[in-house]
Amino acid sequence: MNFTLTIMGTASAMPISDRNPSAQALAVHGRLFLLDCGEGTQQQMRRAHLSFLKVEAIFISHIHGDHLFGLFGLLNTMAMYGRTADLYIYGPQALGSVLNFYRSFFADGSAYEIRFTAVDCKEPQVVHQSKWVTVSAFPLNHKIECYGYRFDEIVTERHWKENPDYHPKSYAYCSDTAPFAQEAAWVKGVDLLYHEATYPGEMADKAAARWHSTAGQAAQCARDAGAGQLVVGHYSSRITDFGALAQECRDIFPDTVLAQDGDIIEF
Ligand SMILES: [Zn+2]
Ligand SMILES: [Zn+2]
Repeated sequence: MNFTLTIMGTASAMPISDRNPSAQALAVHGRLFLLDCGEGTQQQMRRAHLSFLKVEAIFISHIHGDHLFGLFGLLNTMAMYGRTADLYIYGPQALGSVLNFYRSFFADGSAYEIRFTAVDCKEPQVVHQSKWVTVSAFPLNHKIECYGYRFDEIVTERHWKENPDYHPKSYAYCSDTAPFAQEAAWVKGVDLLYHEATYPGEMADKAAARWHSTAGQAAQCARDAGAGQLVVGHYSSRITDFGALAQECRDIFPDTVLAQDGDIIEF
C-alpha cells in the first residue's frame, strides 16, 4: 500500500507568484489528511484532483496565518458540496476560538460537524486513530505554540500473513521550528520526513532569531532520525539560489527533495 503526499505550498509568510503557503495532503487508502491549510489550499486541491469530501482530518501546526488562512474557504466549500461526514480538526487550543468565529458567522446551513480537539502535549501523544493510520502530535520549537505530526501505518494481521517482513509506512511533518534536542528521536525511522528549511546556512542567525531552521539543520534532523527520505520547504522569499540550498542539505543527507508546489511523493 502506498502513501501519497501532495505538496500544496512551499512559501513561508505569504503567497508569492509561484508558491503558496504551507499545506500538504497525505492520502492513505483513499482517505485524505491535510497538514496545515495555507491560503489557496482549496485551489491547490482542485489542481491535484483531491476530493474535498474525502478529507477525514485536518492537522494545523500553529496559529500563524501562513498555515491556516485557507481553512475558512475550504470549510465553506465542503458545506456547499453537501458534506455530511464529521470533519476532525486538530491544532493548538487557540484554534478553537478561530473555529468558533467561523461557526458563528459562516456555518449556517452546513450539514457536517467540525470536531475540534485541542492538542496540548509536551511529548508525542496519539491524537487521531484512523482505519489505516495512527496520528501523533509532538511539540515543536517555534515562537508560539506549534506542533508536528507523525503518521504511522497500522499493520493488520493480514499484512503479516501476506508478508512476515512487512515494513509499516510512516511520515512526519515538522512545520515551523528551530532545532531542539528531542526532535530527531520523535521522528525516528520515518520513511519520509518533511522539515521546514526557511533559510540557507549563511542566514543561521536570522533562522535562530525567528525560531526557524536552516536547510542544513533540516538535513541534520533527517540524518539523526535515520529517515528514509527528506523533503524540505517553507522557503524564505530571500532565497535565490536553490541549487546551493539543495547542496547544503545533500552534503548532510543525500536523499533530499526540495519541494515545489504541486509535487507528488509516493512512498
Ligand atoms: Zn510559517
Ligand atoms: Zn510560524
